[in-house]
Parts: sequence; C-alpha cells; structure tokens
Amino acid sequence: MSARPRAVVSGVRHLVVVLGDQLDAGSTALDGFEASRDAIWMAEVAGESEHVVSSKVRTALFLSAMRHFRDAQRALGRRVEYVELDSPGNTQTLAGELARALAVSRPERLVMVRAGEWRLDQDLAAAAKSAGVPLELRPDRHFLCTPEEFHEHAAGRKQLRMEFFYREMRRRHGVLLDEAGEPLGGQWNFDHDNRESFGKEGPPRPLPAPRRFAPDATTRAVLQLVEKRFPRHPGDLSVFDWPVTPEDAQRALEDFVTHRLPDFGRYQDAIWCGEPWLYHSLISAAMNLKLLDPRTVVAAVEREVRTGKVPLAAGEGFIRQVLGWREYVRGVYWLHMPDYVERNALGAKEPLPSFYWTGETAMSCLRDALGQTLRLGYAHHIQRLMVTGLYSLLLGVDPKRIHEWYLGVYVDAVEWVELPNTLGMSQYADGGVMASKPYVATGKYIQRMSNACASCRFDPAKATGEDACPFTTLYWDFLLRHETLLRGNQRMALQVKNVARLSASERSAIRARANAIRVGGGEPPAEEGTLPLETELRAKAFKRS
Ligand SMILES: Cc1cc2nc3c(=O)[nH]c(=O)nc-3n(C[C@H](O)[C@H](O)[C@H](O)COP(=O)(O)OP(=O)(O)OC[C@H]3O[C@@H](n4cnc5c(N)ncnc54)[C@H](O)[C@@H]3O)c2cc1C
Ligand code: SF4
Repeated sequence: MSARPRAVVSGVRHLVVVLGDQLDAGSTALDGFEASRDAIWMAEVAGESEHVVSSKVRTALFLSAMRHFRDAQRALGRRVEYVELDSPGNTQTLAGELARALAVSRPERLVMVRAGEWRLDQDLAAAAKSAGVPLELRPDRHFLCTPEEFHEHAAGRKQLRMEFFYREMRRRHGVLLDEAGEPLGGQWNFDHDNRESFGKEGPPRPLPAPRRFAPDATTRAVLQLVEKRFPRHPGDLSVFDWPVTPEDAQRALEDFVTHRLPDFGRYQDAIWCGEPWLYHSLISAAMNLKLLDPRTVVAAVEREVRTGKVPLAAGEGFIRQVLGWREYVRGVYWLHMPDYVERNALGAKEPLPSFYWTGETAMSCLRDALGQTLRLGYAHHIQRLMVTGLYSLLLGVDPKRIHEWYLGVYVDAVEWVELPNTLGMSQYADGGVMASKPYVATGKYIQRMSNACASCRFDPAKATGEDACPFTTLYWDFLLRHETLLRGNQRMALQVKNVARLSASERSAIRARANAIRVGGGEPPAEEGTLPLETELRAKAFKRS
C-alpha cells in the first residue's frame, strides 16, 4: 500500500541531504544555508541495515548519532525533515524516501556531498533525476585528499603504494616535519620500533579502560527501537557506550591521547584474548560518521609528540593510519569503483563459514575475535586482518561474501573504507592494488602475537595430523593452490621456494586435510569432546554422511 502524500511544503530553495555518515555541522552541503528558505532532509530506513545484515550496535550508533545531529540543527533554528524508522509510510529505502520527500517539498535544488558508497550515490542521483530536481554535489571537506587529487597521485604510476602517498600527505599538510621540511626524527616510518607482542605475562595491568559514554534518553529510545526492529541481528545493546555527538567524540579522542596513545605503536599489532580494546583509539566510527575531523585527530597527536608526552614512534605510527591509510583507501575506492567490488583475482568461491555468525568454533583465536566482533561490533586491525580476514583468505571464501560480512558487523563500516580493506588488503582479490602481496601466515604468527594458541586444541606448528592448526594447514594449501601465480611476485619468493621443497606425500597430506576443513564448512575434523556442542553435532553429522 503506498503512503498518503504529505502536504506540499512550499518555497524550499535547497533541500540539503544529510546521510548517516555525513553528520558534519561544518559540511560544505550546509554552506550558505538560509533558515528561511532551506531545509535539511534525513531518513532512517531498514534497507540500510538489511542489504547486508548489520549489527544492532552499528545500526543503533548511526540512528542515535543522526537523531542527535537533527536535534542540534533544530536547536540552531533550522528546519529538518526527518523520517524515523517507524514513521508511518516509511518505504524503508533511502531512494524511496528521497523520492517521497521531493514530491512533497519540490525544492529548487538538492544539495549534498557524495555518499560513502557507490550504490547510494547512484540511487540518490537517480531519485533526483526522476523527480526532475537538479542535484548539486559539493566537495567533501572532511577528508584531507580529494578523489581528484588521488587521481593525480595515481596517474602514470604502475603500482600504487601507501607509503609514497603518505609522504606526499605529510609534506602537503605539514605534519611531523622539521624546520627544513624533512620528516621529524630523520625518517618517515618507525614501524620497526612498533609491533611488539605482550609476551607470556600479557599486557601491563591495569589496562587503561576507554572512557564510556552512557546512553542518554535519545540513545535509549534508539536502542529499544533497534532491538525491536532487528531482533535477530548480531550485537549486544546492553553494553552500548559509543560516542554519538561531536562533543563526546572529542572526549573520546582526548581520553585516547592521554591514556593509550603512548603505548599505541608498541602494542598496535598485539592481541590478548578477552581484551578487546587494548591501546586502540576506538575513534574510527566517530570519524567515519564525521563527528570528528581527522585534522583535529592528527593535530592532537602531533601536539603530544612535539611536547614530548608521546614517543615519536607511537605518534607517527598513529598519524600514518589516519593521514595515510584512511585517506589512501578512500582514494582507491573512488578510483576503482564500481568494478572493484566484482574483483576476485584468486578465483575464491567458498561460502563464508557459518561460525562467522555465531563465533562457535574450536579455534581459540577465531572464537575470541568473532565473539567480540558479534557482541561489540569491534575488533582491532590485526584481529580483522590476521585472524578473521586471514582465515577467509586461506580458506578461499568468495570475496563478496566476506566483504558483506565486514560491512555489516563493524560499527565503523562504511563501504569506502571497508571494501578496499577487505577485498583488497585482506583478501588480495584486487590482484595487488592495495597490497603488494597477499597477507598470508601460518598459525605461528598468531601464536607470536597473542595468547590464543595456549588455550587451543590445535598446534600452530603443525600442518597435518589430528591437532594440526587449520591456519597452518590452509597456509600451505594456499601456497600450493596459487604456486604459479605467486611465482611472479618477488615479495613471495621465499614462501614459493619453501613450498617447492615439499615432498609429494607432504603435499597430498596437506591437500587432504585442507579439503576436509572445506567439506566441514571451514571447521577441521572434530576430536570428540573438544568443540562447542553445536559445532560438535555438526561435525558428527558430517562424519556420518
Ligand atoms: C578486513 C578489514 C576491514 C576493515 N574495515 C574497516 C571499516 O569498515 N571501517 C574502518 O574505519 N576501518 C576498517 N578497517 C581498518 C581498521 O581495522 C580500523 O580502522 C580500526 O581497527 C578501527 O579501530 P580504532 O579506531 O580503534 O583504530 P586504531 O587502531 O586506534 O587506529 C587509528 C585510526 O586509524 C584509521 N585506520 C587504521 N587503519 C586503517 C585502515 N587500514 N584503513 C582506514 N583507516 C585506518 C582509523 O580511522 C582508526 O580509527 C578494516 C581493516 C581490515 C583489515
Ligand atoms: S593453534 Fe591455530 S587455530 Fe588455534 S589459536 Fe593458534 S592459530 Fe588459532
């Protein structure tokens, strides 16, 4: 049944579209806003939580931040046309809602900055076109590099490398440079000083707990709504404490800079089971929703370095993530979309293991990373890259399926940042645009960087046998499956040489166990009594069939 049209609102000059990841009061879309003639348009729609299964935490974060933005704009005396998720007649798609709004307000012009996802960009442009309303796309000043500047950077280069882009950005924005314009400390990159593990003793105690942001009345209403509307989606809303306003996002940044930044670089790659936050900043979601400006973040970190409160290696390591990686992945996204999402350079076609939706697996590292992801909507970079991402790569999961999973389960997921990280950096499906070689490793890497293996029934050193670590088995199987392709990659020379040394019987034992893992839906053959019950029953059913 179609919704009854609302009364026509006359005389709207600009209808300014603000999407859930565009909550920037200083956006160019609001430049020249005249309260008497212009209006802001925002909509909550189920489609954005359902086109990929979105975590309840992610949905709640977006909706709560949107409602806070709406209220702040109304407090400035601006008109905000806002469609709530349960508003009568909500078509539950953004294009559908925009079409409805355009029919009602008939503005002279639609104004917005580009959406963070190709699909929406196209859908909204099509809605404007079919309503016959001109669309003015304004440049997005949140980012430090425009898609056009990235184009120029990429032009004529055979191969893109983040490190060169990052150096250009440091120079262009004058970040961490000495008086001569050279990098502070005499080098661009302090990676070799970073990346320690916690060792057997674990992280120093007490760990600096991140600041919490208790839900206010607006957030509590959203939590109830999301729980009711998406009961089967993953995510535990009872512990929701993300910042949802620019003021709280700023407090979260200050909390990080004061308490965790000094040890960020050192422990940025370390994992400790049961400790989801460690020394990470937890500001990606606030930045991606544009509650927090990356310039503010970079300046705050640089200040700590220059005043000697934070080691240069930690500050540089952090700034590289924001000024380097974050801008770089956005450049890659807009340079290569729309075909980028279709890439599958390794021809991977396995389904996503069902335990990615439950966390129920005998593999301790995956159980921990998946468990915290599904509950909190958060895992840090190395958990995403070298645990959940690595396993999917080694198993040979279809890159589109794992991309959809990452886009749904993390609070900070917006396609421009998620897709190049997942499909490119983690799955090597873009054939080397994001990463110069596939990020592959055996379980020994996870053993070195975490405590997960100590409580696991598998042995990270073994590739075959009852207790062989599935990561290790699948690592060798990956090299065997892609031996020819990898031979052409200089950076894989050592690994390719090692695989060439395997005897015929070692090869067939590895292949047999890898196949058994695939047939078991990504789970190795079970040893009775060692798996979570559900997984054990599945494994038994598989054995019988
Ligand atoms: C497979 C995969 C998927 C990812 N998906 C997302 C995503 O959907 N959204 C997202 O924001 N990040 C994504 N990342 C990058 C990174 O994992 C997260 O930005 C980070 O874990 C967020 O937590 P934090 O704020 O505590 O980050 P910190 O560890 O404190 O890092 C600081 C900041 O640097 C930026 N950053 C760090 N690494 C990257 C990177 N590779 N790309 C872009 N920005 C980076 C983030 O803004 C982050 O807040 C993904 C990485 C991988 C390997
Ligand atoms: S042994 Fe293998 S599966 Fe188990 S925790 Fe270590 S890396 Fe993960």
